[in-house]
Amino acid sequence: MMKTFLVTGGAGFIGSAVVRELIDNSEHRVVNVDKLTYAGNLESLANVEGNARYHFVQADIGDARAMQRAFEEFQPDVVMHLAAESHVDRSIDGPAEFIQTNVVGTTVLLEAARLYWLQLKESDPQKAEGFRFHHISTDEVYGDLEGTDDLFTETTPYAPSSPYSASKASSDHLVRAWHRTYGLPSLITNCSNNYGPYHFPEKLIPLMILNALAGKPMPVYGDGQQVRDWLYVEDHARALITVATQGQTGETYNIGGHNEKTNLEVVETLCDLLDDRVGTSHLTSADSHRDLITFVADRPGHDVRYAIDASRIERELGWTPAETFETGLAKTVDWYLTNREWWQRVQDGSYRGERLGVLT
Ligand code: NAD
Repeated sequence: MMKTFLVTGGAGFIGSAVVRELIDNSEHRVVNVDKLTYAGNLESLANVEGNARYHFVQADIGDARAMQRAFEEFQPDVVMHLAAESHVDRSIDGPAEFIQTNVVGTTVLLEAARLYWLQLKESDPQKAEGFRFHHISTDEVYGDLEGTDDLFTETTPYAPSSPYSASKASSDHLVRAWHRTYGLPSLITNCSNNYGPYHFPEKLIPLMILNALAGKPMPVYGDGQQVRDWLYVEDHARALITVATQGQTGETYNIGGHNEKTNLEVVETLCDLLDDRVGTSHLTSADSHRDLITFVADRPGHDVRYAIDASRIERELGWTPAETFETGLAKTVDWYLTNREWWQRVQDGSYRGERLGVLT
């Protein structure tokens, strides 16, 4: 049955993958509610723009009236909430915006959803019964993993380290409270680091690819031994739609790719892929892109290791990632090589590769 999905943050990296997946591979209608901050980019949605099932609303999730209007006008069956300030380094430079969007904005959205759902209970009880609010969060809320074999499960206590992860942890608690207190049918997912096409160039993988292509230093924070569990963004988008449509309300699902790598391993793999695909003739004094790797001061409060136990979503909902780290990373490099216009416009506009999040 055709449903209406209200996706917040649909012009961002993961949100745009969710919107493309819903439009390309389902019959559902999608309403993308996005403020278009520096991270929002409608060019990531060029292939769905003319589709009659796709609608765009430019609005701030912290604007209660705009959220109320969006619910009234589009009468969604499912909310997928991805809108957020998402970059740890920016949260170190300016935490207030993270509290405003991730905490206050999520509260405003929860209230708009709750009031809409209460009205639905009167006007259309069957639709109210099926309504879902899916909050998309991160594994960073769990903080640093101490043991080398430990994994985050859905019951790992929260211990966020950065203003970003603290703001996401707060929003998770709010969603849980709206479920326990008001009965709002909500779900939460906590996912590991994503990578793939349309990733804003301030994040590790695209930054490294673009610096390497320009023959610029590839800055690795600290000793590069921080471990992250990498997931290809299209696998995440499929996991999110699976949870939003088949998950148990009131529950949390961890999502991960079984791809634990140190940052240095990621960067070295990228260098080898680029040596293979573009050669090294554009490098003035280097025989390999690996020669561009430069160790720089670490990020303050940098967590050393994250790793996800994703067995619950695999066992209960049958989701597994389609890409290995090797296939996903190769696809990602190829995407950046064939979509120069997309990232060149970003570089000409809001972000030119500068270092963020350094304490003075
Ligand atoms: P992103 O920064 O690429 O995109 C965020 C989007 O939200 C942008 O389009 C932006 O314009 C929009 N937005 C920001 N503030 C807004 C506001 N006040 N009102 C409306 N729209 C607003 O982020 P992303 O990497 O796509 O992450 C999406 C979600 O997934 C976030 O909630 C993030 O915490 C979570 N997450 C990200 C990762 C990752 O590796 N990127 C991993 C796990 C979870």
